[in-house]
Amino acid sequence: MADQYDYDLFTIGAGSGGVRASRMSALKGAKVAVAEEHRPGGTCVIRGCVPKKYMVYASNFAKQVKTARAYGWDLPEKPSFDWPSFRDAMNAEVDRLSGIYARNLNNTGVELIEERAEIVGPHEIRLVQSDRVVTAKHILIATGGTPSKDWDLPGVEHTITSNELFHLKKLPEHIVIAGGGYIACEFAQVFAGLGVKTCLVYRRDTVLRGFDEDVRTFVHEGLKASGVRVITHTVFEKIEETPYKPGFKTVTLKNGDELIADQVVFAIGRNPYVEGLGLENAGVELDEAGAILVDEYSKTNVDHIYAVGDVTNRVNLTPVAIREGAAFAETVFGNKPTAYDHELIPSAVFTQPPVGTAGLTEAEARRTGAEIDIYKSRFRPMKGMITDNPDWMMMKLVVRASDQVVLGVHIVGDDAPEIIQAVGIAVKAGLTKAQFDATCAVHPTAAEELVTMKEKWTPPELKAAE
Ligand code: NDP
Repeated sequence: MADQYDYDLFTIGAGSGGVRASRMSALKGAKVAVAEEHRPGGTCVIRGCVPKKYMVYASNFAKQVKTARAYGWDLPEKPSFDWPSFRDAMNAEVDRLSGIYARNLNNTGVELIEERAEIVGPHEIRLVQSDRVVTAKHILIATGGTPSKDWDLPGVEHTITSNELFHLKKLPEHIVIAGGGYIACEFAQVFAGLGVKTCLVYRRDTVLRGFDEDVRTFVHEGLKASGVRVITHTVFEKIEETPYKPGFKTVTLKNGDELIADQVVFAIGRNPYVEGLGLENAGVELDEAGAILVDEYSKTNVDHIYAVGDVTNRVNLTPVAIREGAAFAETVFGNKPTAYDHELIPSAVFTQPPVGTAGLTEAEARRTGAEIDIYKSRFRPMKGMITDNPDWMMMKLVVRASDQVVLGVHIVGDDAPEIIQAVGIAVKAGLTKAQFDATCAVHPTAAEELVTMKEKWTPPELKAAE
């Protein structure tokens, strides 16, 4: 296809969105190159979802050992965990997956350029290491995001982010994590499960702001139950090297508390990765949060420049970036304008137990002005019943009263992410409570609760007045 340009498409960033867009565009006949300054795979594969989930698995064994004993297994009194051997196995798998990304690009005829790329003109891209300039008819920016360290805090240089957690030389003795979002909660529980003294410092009262209130409370209590010290309503004031213990820092909080820790982690959000990209050289506009502004087709204000994934700060999830990348390829090289629908995207938080959520929270549903019915169930799934500390699980349906459409489903408990993937189909399809109820239960499962909730939940104060 390319004529006056070197490429039909030049993609910057070989993460989930960039790779999908590049491969699909090449399959449609475009001449495509993708530049990657680190390794193919992006945040999800290299320093996000994939290694994080391995860490969740590793951490969860502590509990499984206890459960196994209750089931009659004779296991050593103090089973030990070897961080270096786990870490190396995890990173070897990351290497394998990164290799697959590179091979898949190659198999579809996409040229992978393992260099940093910067935009130097509307159609011109400079490859920094080899110091050459190439041209492209279309440019796709898929550079993702980076962990935020935007905090004018004395001692910020003593902190690390999620990027470094996968490569620690040794397991920390005491880890302090700032933040109360996905990353803070997931890692707090990972490290607590691995036997690390763990403290989470959150500036408000309950973690996971934006999630359904029942989910937030359940996760917040779950963090404490799994041994995480949760300190709320305060933030870090300063971090200093401590004279008492080499390698340790003193974290002073605004409330006056002092914590001594060998790892201090910022999990205070992620920023679109646009630094030094040269967007100004092509006139690409950003929003006030520094994300690339795009329309529903992922097109920037410049006609031939598009952006997908976290760099656009729409819904920052891997599968969303992949769908945006696919829609881009259809639009630009498939002659079929395709806008990815960002409504009702299911997601999971891999706390322990994990969260699965699809659709509206109760608060969001009420804000629509519609009358809302709530169905809730809190129960102890059967697996734990013969242990001395059975887990709880929570399921909640948010239903619009007028037509009984299930607007949201929220689950916290083992397997919630697996369950929500299937329930997400029903929520996306706009099914009603009656259609949920008409579906036969699968027994014995925890998920059967979703089709057997009969009684509407009434707030305790209303119940008392009945
Ligand atoms: P989030 O935006 O989810 O959470 C950031 C947290 O840091 C919030 O609790 C916020 O508090 C707090 N915070 C922000 N600034 C400060 C500050 N200056 N001082 C103290 N606390 C602060 O970001 P994450 O880094 O956890 O995750 C980034 C994104 O990555 C997520 O939004 C998600 O899209 C994606 N992700 C998805 C995962 C999944 O699907 N399982 C896993 C991990 C990441 P407040 O609530 O007050 O704003």
